[in-house]
This record gives sequence, structure tokens and C-alpha cells, in this order.
Amino acid sequence: MQANTEIKDTGNKPDLIDSELTKCHPDEVALKSFFLGPQAENGPWIQEIMNELFEAWFEWRRSLYPEDGPAISQGDLNTPEFIERRAHIKEQVMSVMERLQSELPSFSPRYIGHMITEVSMPALLGHIITLLYNPNNISGESSRVGILIEDEAIRDLLGMMGYDTKFGSGHFTSGGTVANLEGALRARDRFARWLAAGAINRKYGDKSMNMFDTCLMGWDEFDRIRFEYELTEDELRDFHILRGNPVNVYRNLNKVFDMDYAGPVVLVPQNKHYSWNKAVDIMGLGEEAFVGIETDEHGRMCVDALRDTIENCYKRQRPPLMVVSVAGTTELGEMDPIHDIQAVLDEYKEKRGWHIWHHVDAAYGGFLCSIDTKNSEAISENMANALDAISRSNSVTIDPHKLGYVPYASGAFLCNSKREYYYRKSIAPYINFSGTQERGPQTIEGSRSAAGAISTLLTSRTIGLGANGYGRILERTIQSRIKLEKMMKEAHPEIRIFPHAETNIITFIVAKDNEALGKSNERTLQVYDAFSPDENHDFFVSKTTLKRPAYNRLIDAFTEDWSAVHDTEELVLIRITLMNPFFDTKDNLDYPAEFVKKLRQNLLNG
Ligand SMILES: *Cc1c(COP(=O)(O)O)cnc(C)c1O
Repeated sequence: MQANTEIKDTGNKPDLIDSELTKCHPDEVALKSFFLGPQAENGPWIQEIMNELFEAWFEWRRSLYPEDGPAISQGDLNTPEFIERRAHIKEQVMSVMERLQSELPSFSPRYIGHMITEVSMPALLGHIITLLYNPNNISGESSRVGILIEDEAIRDLLGMMGYDTKFGSGHFTSGGTVANLEGALRARDRFARWLAAGAINRKYGDKSMNMFDTCLMGWDEFDRIRFEYELTEDELRDFHILRGNPVNVYRNLNKVFDMDYAGPVVLVPQNKHYSWNKAVDIMGLGEEAFVGIETDEHGRMCVDALRDTIENCYKRQRPPLMVVSVAGTTELGEMDPIHDIQAVLDEYKEKRGWHIWHHVDAAYGGFLCSIDTKNSEAISENMANALDAISRSNSVTIDPHKLGYVPYASGAFLCNSKREYYYRKSIAPYINFSGTQERGPQTIEGSRSAAGAISTLLTSRTIGLGANGYGRILERTIQSRIKLEKMMKEAHPEIRIFPHAETNIITFIVAKDNEALGKSNERTLQVYDAFSPDENHDFFVSKTTLKRPAYNRLIDAFTEDWSAVHDTEELVLIRITLMNPFFDTKDNLDYPAEFVKKLRQNLLNG
């Protein structure tokens, strides 16, 4: 997306010379057709499409049951009351529209704060057309086409993550929070089934497995027990923590296992998104069941700590319901070493027979899977390996409304196996699996718009989920991060950039050598105030606070660079999310240079 012949005549920069234009690959220029543009450069032809869409919508109505005749006559349209109401509607709509024009200008390349930016045109058009036809993807009875499109969009996302599109399944959610909960519920259901079957196995005399081994037995063992004892639903209920009366079930479990059932734990890295606290809360596992895995000096999950934690859980007979890793952490945009985490879990499966559910929270980073990980020079080795390993996990959360440039609300939950996806069924869920596209019985949410799915399908079919589409756009945002980091470092010695960024997020603190951290935090907040989103500034950034003990090792290693004095447990960082596709283009304002200039001015004056 370097030079653009199409927007040359909008007067942005008429002095572009032809040789410069020809240097740019036509594919790169073409990527600019996917976004409206900061000055609505693509406005005219988008408007044309919009008109056609509305025309088709009207025509659709007219063509169905024309014999019914109009319900609103020409006479009705001309009555003074009617005309007055019409005027009133317009007035009210315009008034809300006017209020909305004070919204955050998140489309602008000057907005580099949170994970929100310009949406793509195919996605926006997809969203709008869905609203016109208004299907409800809760079932096939209220959505004829919507659910088919959801199925296609899910398959495209499965493919991008490297999951098998035949065996995998999933659905769209209102966002990452719900998708994470979808993963947790399925992990819990599997856990409950295995525990119940194992308890019956012990009841009939086979005491070879303890509580921990039982809860992680795997489907093969489950099926063996199921067939051997011809388990019935009723029998299972006595030991099923989600079906029977919990107090009775716990009592029954204590009896057959000769020990107290203490419940599962959820293993989540300390860098986690707070949606995980919500999931544990909603499932009623008790806060205590939420076990944070230590992070390393990069702020990523420490794999040795994961292993130690699992061993420790074994000693306490607290089986892990799931291990969560994060692809693109909310605070720093970090990639947990998903490959190493999966390797630890694979090893436990092989050596100890423990099948531990691995959910990857890729709400932010999931679309980075579109990058050609084998050949990209923009991404680190850890990131390439982590992205490749997502395909080996049990389930994934991905938010098209983040790096997918899709309007809110669009999240998705993906599962690597139909058996684990279709969980709300009898003890043999896969047998009852009917093969329909209906997700209704499997989703937390009831009525669901098809808009997220249709927007995502349209972006997948136009921009493309591969290296030449999203992969290229997102790779460029990572290159912008690398470039801007360098410029910021050169601009002022007190700008201390977190050195391990991997995706397109920059975080930094403003600190003098040997300064007390409290003082640096304060100055960093002053800089934030000059770029905060509460009113229109030159640029908009966000901020985050890293706390001990979650980020102990990162805080120690990072602040060593300027020999900070530790008078506080917190590290305040300004956070820049470089998602906007026009942040670093040749044609218009040089945003990276302009931002650095403003930042420098601010530091010199402050
Ligand atoms: C944004 C995010 C979520 C939550 O997603 P919502 O769509 O805001 O509900 C969960 N996990 C991570 C890592 C995120 O970045």
C-alpha cells in the first residue's frame, strides 16, 4: 500500500512522480480498495454500491406477493400527519447522527490507542446487507441463508487457523469474552463426563486411576468404559458434576475415590484478559480455582512454570480443566509460546495419559495466522512457531472485530473436533450429531445476528485470509511498529520502549536514568493526557498498568535498562496499537514522523 494512483486526483499530493508510482506493486495499491480511506476517498463507488443494495432490497419486497397490493397508499403518503411524522423521523435521525459525529475518530490513522480502527468496506457492506434481511442464526427456521453463510465463514476461519475444516466446527459470538466462555464450558463438560465414567469404573472395582488421572483420561478410555458397562444417562448422573445435585455428586465421588473431591483448576497465564476471571466466575468454580501461570521477562507464559504448576496440581489432586494460552496479549500484544505449551501437554499425554484441554485465546492475534509464517521477515521466530502451533490446540477464540477489520459485534469460537464442539447432548454427543448447520442448541447466546458471519465471509472472499490479503496488511502493521519504535528511540532518550514487542503494539514509559518508578509513572501519565481520547488531540493513544507479581520478571528486567528505583509495584505504559492500514502510506501525511514530532514536543515542554 505505498503509492496509489486512484486517490492521486483527490488532491492529496499532486506532485507524485510517475516513476514513484510504478515502483509500487499493483497488488499493494489494490489493497487500498478495501477501506473507505481517511478522507472518504473510496466514497463515490461505495455509495453507488449502497444505492444498488437498497434498490435490490426494495425490489425484493415488491417482487414477493405483489398481488397483496400496497399497505401504504399514495393518499396516505400525502396526508399532513404523515408528512409531519416523516419530517420528525428525519430530524431525530439527523440529530443522533450529529451527536455521533463527536464520536472517537477511530477511523483516522491518528487514532493509535486501543484495538479499534477503520473497518473494511466489504465487512461494512456485509454488515449493512445483513441488517436489511435480518436473519436470526439461532436456528434454520429463522435463518435460511444466514446459517449457511455462518458455516462457510467458520470454515474459512478454521482453515486460516490450520484446523481441519471437515472435523472442526464453531460459531460466531458477540465477541472474545463469550467465545472464551464457550471454550471453558466445553472443557468443563468433557471433564465432567470423564470424571463420571471413571467414577463408575471404580465403583465396579477398577481402582487403577486416581481422581486426577480420571479427569484427564481421554476419549478412548471413556469409550472403553462406556461400552464395557453399557453406561446409561441415569447411572452417569450420580457422578456427573453438571447433571446431578452437586452435593450428592460430591459425596458419591468422595466415596468411590476414597478422598475428597476438590474441584478442577483453570490454568491461565498471568498476562490473561479479564474475560477469564468472568468465565471462572460464571462457571461457579470459585476464584481459588483460577491459577495464574507465571510470566517470563517478555511477559509471556513461562513454560517451566506451567510444568511446575501441573506437577503441583497433581500432588494436590486438582486436575486442570484447561490450559489457556494467549496469541496477542491485550496489554503488550505478546505471543505466548503456544508451540512449547502444546509440546508440554503432548508430553503429558504420551507419558502420563493426561489429556489436557488447550484453548488459545487469539481474540486479538488470530488473524495474524494469515501471514506466511515460513517466509515472513516481519515476524519473530517465536511468533511464527506460536501461530503455526494453534492448529494443534483444542479450541480457539478469534475476534473478527479486532484484526479482522469487521464492525462490532463479531467474535468467533472454533473447536478442533466436532465431538468436543457439540457438547450439549447425551453421553455420546457425536452419535446424535445430525450434520445440520444449526448451532442454536450449542451456543450460549440465543438470538444471534448473522452480521458478524456475513461480514467475515465477505472479507475472506475479497481481501482473503492468506498471505496476499490479510497477511500482507497485517505484516505491514508489524513493519510500521518496527519502524516507529526505531524513530521513537532516536527522538528522545527518556522514551523507554518495551523491547520484546512482537505484533503491532508498542508500549513505552518515559523515564530518566536512576529515577524512582513512581515518578516515571507520573510523567508517563502526563504524556498520556496529551494524547488521551477524551477530546480531539493530534493523536490518540491508550495506556496500561503492569502489576507485580503478575509481571515480576518483566518489570525487573525492563527497568534495569535505566536503573529505576523501585518505590512502587506498578509500571505504567503508554500503549500504541498500530492497526490502521493507512498509518504508514507514502501519499498522505507522514503519520509516524508527525507522531514522533508531537511526542518529542510534549516531552521537551513537559
Ligand atoms: C479483546 C480480548 C478479549 C475479549 O474480547 P471481546 O470481544 O472484547 O469480548 C479476550 N481475550 C483477549 C486476549 C483479547 O484481546
